[in-house]
Amino acid sequence: MSKVDLSKWTSKNIPKLAKQLQVYNTAYRAGKPKISDAEYDSLTEHLRSLDPNHKYLHTVEAESIENGEKIRHKVPMLSTEKAYKKEKLQAFVTRVEKAASELGIKKITFRVTPKLDGMAGKDEGGILASRGNGLVGVNITRVFKRGIVAIGGRNKGPGEIVMVRSYFEKNFTKDFDHPRNMIVGIVNADKLSAFAQKALKAQKVHFVPYSTLVNWSGSGKDLVAKIDSITADLTKKVDYPLDGMVAEVTNEKLKNYMGATSHHHRWQIAIKTKGETATTTVESIGWQTGKTGRVTPVLRVKPVSVSGATISNITAHHAGMVRDKKLGAGAKIEIIRSGEVIPKLENVLKCVKKVNIPSQCPSCKGPLSWDNDFLVCTNNASCPAQSTTGLRHWFKTLGTASGFGPKTLEALVKNNITDIKLIYAMKEKDFKKLGLGDKQSENLEKALKDSLSESVEDARFLAAFGIQNLGIGDSRKLLAVYPLKDLHSITSEKMEAIPGFGAKTSGSISSAIRRLWPTIKHMMDLGFTLRKTPLKAEQEALVASAKNPFAGKHVLFTGKMEHGSRNDMKVQARSLGATVLSVMSSKVEFLIIGAKASQKKIAAATSHGAKILTEQEYNKQIKDSEE
Ligand SMILES: [Zn+2]
Repeated sequence: MSKVDLSKWTSKNIPKLAKQLQVYNTAYRAGKPKISDAEYDSLTEHLRSLDPNHKYLHTVEAESIENGEKIRHKVPMLSTEKAYKKEKLQAFVTRVEKAASELGIKKITFRVTPKLDGMAGKDEGGILASRGNGLVGVNITRVFKRGIVAIGGRNKGPGEIVMVRSYFEKNFTKDFDHPRNMIVGIVNADKLSAFAQKALKAQKVHFVPYSTLVNWSGSGKDLVAKIDSITADLTKKVDYPLDGMVAEVTNEKLKNYMGATSHHHRWQIAIKTKGETATTTVESIGWQTGKTGRVTPVLRVKPVSVSGATISNITAHHAGMVRDKKLGAGAKIEIIRSGEVIPKLENVLKCVKKVNIPSQCPSCKGPLSWDNDFLVCTNNASCPAQSTTGLRHWFKTLGTASGFGPKTLEALVKNNITDIKLIYAMKEKDFKKLGLGDKQSENLEKALKDSLSESVEDARFLAAFGIQNLGIGDSRKLLAVYPLKDLHSITSEKMEAIPGFGAKTSGSISSAIRRLWPTIKHMMDLGFTLRKTPLKAEQEALVASAKNPFAGKHVLFTGKMEHGSRNDMKVQARSLGATVLSVMSSKVEFLIIGAKASQKKIAAATSHGAKILTEQEYNKQIKDSEE
């Protein structure tokens, strides 16, 4: 059933409805939507029907980027007024025609472009700024360094960061609901996820200036009459996720005359098409066990075509959905494909009388238990599915031993090699005994050896054990306080004292570490070449004891340096306890300038109150502090 129950919201609880919309909107902007786009839109329209002048409808929704240099847009980036029905589009055309006749303009041309569904920004003067609240955004120029491709070149004005749709559908639909959620990560995260790196490396994440998009142009009469075929035609030509079309006036004089509200331009309208829906029947529900034992459902449905794709599988988030929505073979469901991405369950039209939730793990036949909405196989020790996905996680996370793909691991697990310790004890002849080829067996032994000698971050090593809620980032936080060798004594209380770890996860992570300690210790003793995460205390002591003025400060280098390369200077600065930044921001406290330094950076640094030092002045201050 849809999470949105419109009848719940009446003229009596409008403020609460607006607040709820804000919550949904914030979650959506952060890349973690709580409801579908169509549900959000229907709720927004419901608010409009209750109170057309409510201020929520007339403020630009903010993108969620908290940190960074603030950029004031020369021309505000407003939202777009939305039309869901032809009548509203007709009303827009009538309004434009009235304004045109007031100006004495006879011929009006409308232009329609696809409305990209990504993250809006503006690229001008060498700076890409997020839309922010429409008036002030944040400098996100670094995304180009991260590998986002500027379509048509830089400085082409407003546009959208999006991922190529066909690429997303081929690679990421298992891990993400919508490419926008990945985009938010690429723009905001300090560290790029492996998924993001893959997409960036493949050059499939683009900043698309609106001016470079395909378009249709014609009269207002044709616009209203042909909007469906225009939409279908333009949709076919664009390989990005879309959220409808944008129709606007092209005449500059007319645009100026019509102007804008605080929310949107009056000369522009978004034509939203609710995602295409289709109804189908559930034929069966498949269940899969993951590495931590979670058993998740996949709905196998009678194949049905939705906006050009044939859908036969729908992933449900967790077993709780099957339980609560009463799904099973014979259930009639409505699925929706919004913005042309992965289909989702939109509505249950007919549920089943009796829900069949498996009582045994599909892999090991062990007992299952509920953990909130999740169904979990608790047989962690000897569940083949958990072993295979767990081992896969080890090799994927460590990233230094190739050749251990799903097929190889399945073959190992079938022969009861279910533990990473056992794999590392294997030699070429052992692989051969299991029926693997000569060359492959030789390669596997070599890969294991190589993974011992190739240096790897200790946080990555720890994360490879696949403890729930202990990924690489959290491992780094933990190891900055407790070195790996001391982790066996970690308690829930000690862990909770580290910023970033909550009470609940601290308990489960620390007990998992203690339970796995024999394995972790065994693996450490094999002689992996681990790069230690610097201890926070050591870093702080370095800063505290340093006499040089740069310890603990944020430093940025610009221009060509005379003494040594820029890189050498960065290494030296870090050894002095400084944090070296790579882009200009309000964090910069010292700007060190070499020859031909960027005047723009100097101006920006000055405006932030940073100290500007020439290379010579900088070196002298270091020397003086050492004497
Ligand atoms: Zn199992």
